[in-house]
Amino acid sequence: MHRFGYKGKEFYCEETPITKIAKEVGTPFYLYSIGTFLDHYLKLKEAFKPVNALICFSMKANSNLTVLNALVKNGSGLDIVSGGELFRAKKVGVDPQKIVFASVGKRVEEIEEAIRSKILMFNVESEQELEVINQIAGKLKTTQKVAIRLNPDVAPDTHHYITTGSKENKFGIGMDEAYKLFMQAYRYPHLKLAGVHIHIGSQITDAKPFVKAIKRVLEFIDSVGYKGNPIEYLNIGGGLGIVYSKEKPQTAQEFANVILPLFLSRKDRLKIVLEPGRFISGNSGILVTKVLYEKRAKTKSFLIVDGGMNDLIRPAFYGAYHEILPVVKSAKPRYETADIVGPICESGDFLAKNRKLATVKVGDLLAVLSCGAYGFVMSSNYNSRPRVPEVVVRGKKFFVARKRETREDLIKNERIVTEVL
Ligand SMILES: *Cc1c(COP(=O)(O)O)cnc(C)c1O
Repeated sequence: MHRFGYKGKEFYCEETPITKIAKEVGTPFYLYSIGTFLDHYLKLKEAFKPVNALICFSMKANSNLTVLNALVKNGSGLDIVSGGELFRAKKVGVDPQKIVFASVGKRVEEIEEAIRSKILMFNVESEQELEVINQIAGKLKTTQKVAIRLNPDVAPDTHHYITTGSKENKFGIGMDEAYKLFMQAYRYPHLKLAGVHIHIGSQITDAKPFVKAIKRVLEFIDSVGYKGNPIEYLNIGGGLGIVYSKEKPQTAQEFANVILPLFLSRKDRLKIVLEPGRFISGNSGILVTKVLYEKRAKTKSFLIVDGGMNDLIRPAFYGAYHEILPVVKSAKPRYETADIVGPICESGDFLAKNRKLATVKVGDLLAVLSCGAYGFVMSSNYNSRPRVPEVVVRGKKFFVARKRETREDLIKNERIVTEVL
């Protein structure tokens, strides 16, 4: 359960009215409920307790330091995809033995830094990458644990941009090729091929594709183990879906009820790792924006708001649906259908299309729900718009965790090159 909702006419984050925050920080802004982040994390942790799973929050979904710190202090590990994320992970003092590093394109410097930082393991995406990590580990005179990312060739029913586990995708290594790699583990003396990893896609709302993929992977683990290469870690990735509109996603417990029986009997030999991003963060955050103009033409109405695609790109990028609600409900709401669009010079700059909502007027605040995952982290400075603040709430208190960028921030790495004149 997320902790956003109306109390009377006012929309609240936990026990804090959003109008109060808007007055202080201005609009637009991202708003996170720390209680919701922790609740989602702890539910998953509790559900997977029977196998004592390691939960590594996928920080590409939300890498705000305050959010990461709250999760890490409650025991979470982190799933990183770059040197920049490793830097953030270290800032919040996560135990490096709870860091897993995924990405199809890890650079030499990033690998070296991660090994020096003593991370738990790399999720390896190709044979070449295996060779590179082996070489760097050798140079650093250490043995590094790695997991091979398998492509189990299942196609979950989700947006095609966010499926990652079918043969069509750039991710992972086919089962046959991966088998050969395990048989030739001796070629990598500085690596321990300790695990297998899958991540079959995102926003997957039922357990079936996970079951299918995990069954294939367990067979793989057995076939490799039979040849004398016992696998210690099974990382089942992230991808658990959430409610944006009318989805009926599995709860953490329902997911665990279906998944756990698959490997409960191996729990002393096989350590389970999960990398949820959206499940923990998606419904833990919103974007608050203000209505600038109403434009009502005969054929179509538009509400022009101060939050644009540079702040939240998911509608433009994935055609994603986000629920939008007035921050203050009117006493007698009338309803209309409108496109809710931003100020950016692009037709793709919309937050919602043909959306029925209670009539609002200029100056009213809107809450765009489910923006805690792939929201701020995907924002940009397009149209020279400073990135918006990230505010966190805990109960009755709110704090600016990342302040609004200034105009000076926009140009701080630039100089006017006069030599070109
Ligand atoms: C993006 C990603 C995740 C998190 O995905 P969610 O759908 O947000 O849970 C986990 N693992 C890997 C390898 C990823 O690329």
